[in-house]
Amino acid sequence: MLIILPASFIISLWKAPFKSKLEWLLDLLVTTALIVWLFQAGNWSWVGYYVRFLWLALLIVTIIYSWKKVSNLPFTIKYSVNQKFSIGIYIILILIFGTYNALVLKSYTVAEKGIELSFPLKNGTYYVGQGGNQVLMNYHQAYPGQKYALDILKLNTFGTRASGLYPEELNNYQIYADILYSPCNGKVVDIQNDLPDLPPPKSNPENPAGNHVALACENYDATIILAHMQKGSVAVAKGEKVTAGQILGKVGNSGNTSEPHLHIHAEKDGKGVPITFNDRFLVRNSLVR
Ligand SMILES: [Zn+2]
Repeated sequence: MLIILPASFIISLWKAPFKSKLEWLLDLLVTTALIVWLFQAGNWSWVGYYVRFLWLALLIVTIIYSWKKVSNLPFTIKYSVNQKFSIGIYIILILIFGTYNALVLKSYTVAEKGIELSFPLKNGTYYVGQGGNQVLMNYHQAYPGQKYALDILKLNTFGTRASGLYPEELNNYQIYADILYSPCNGKVVDIQNDLPDLPPPKSNPENPAGNHVALACENYDATIILAHMQKGSVAVAKGEKVTAGQILGKVGNSGNTSEPHLHIHAEKDGKGVPITFNDRFLVRNSLVR
């Protein structure tokens, strides 16, 4: 979807035998709305984080190139029934992709003040796969208890989260076995450490969080949960005091998870609370280095 869809719209804009500027303009608006939407909401860690910029660049080149072809055409002509039909399709697509873009904009901001934490991973380029204040960017928004949760992955040099598209081997995921550090000063209120790390796409819906550490952070009346940790890696005990930066364990693939990643969220009275890292509210496609 992140390759074929933008490629086919760009090729169409590049090659289409436009008879009027209006058709070109409508095609341009559809293609731009689609690419901007995918740029924002696509999970680019599958095909390569940097590919999203490539599509933007290709779009600009294509707009300039195709303008040269239509610059001498009239704005409108007398359209045939077929042409009127395709103009109708263009308008519908502009409305659809335009609405997606408008919805996704909500993702970047949050009205409530977030819980400020330090980022719990320190060894590479981390990528937010699920995050933000809108369900199209963050599927957790559909579950009140996990609202504002983040799913974090790690990118390799090519900007992908794994070697291979969806490997079974856990070590092929960049983030697997990365050390997790405490995001705050506080106290451990719960742990689990004995659930197996599963080869994707296997998951364990009976134990959604898998191996995890739950923290009561100083100054905040909420519980922070770091989930899907590696079996046997949890390095703290229930009741123990922790300081920010202290090792908690390792990223794994236990519990209800599709692949190795860190799931982190804060909750108060069963409701998800926003979290920020260095005052940044992270959304899908945010990077933390
Ligand atoms: Zn999650």
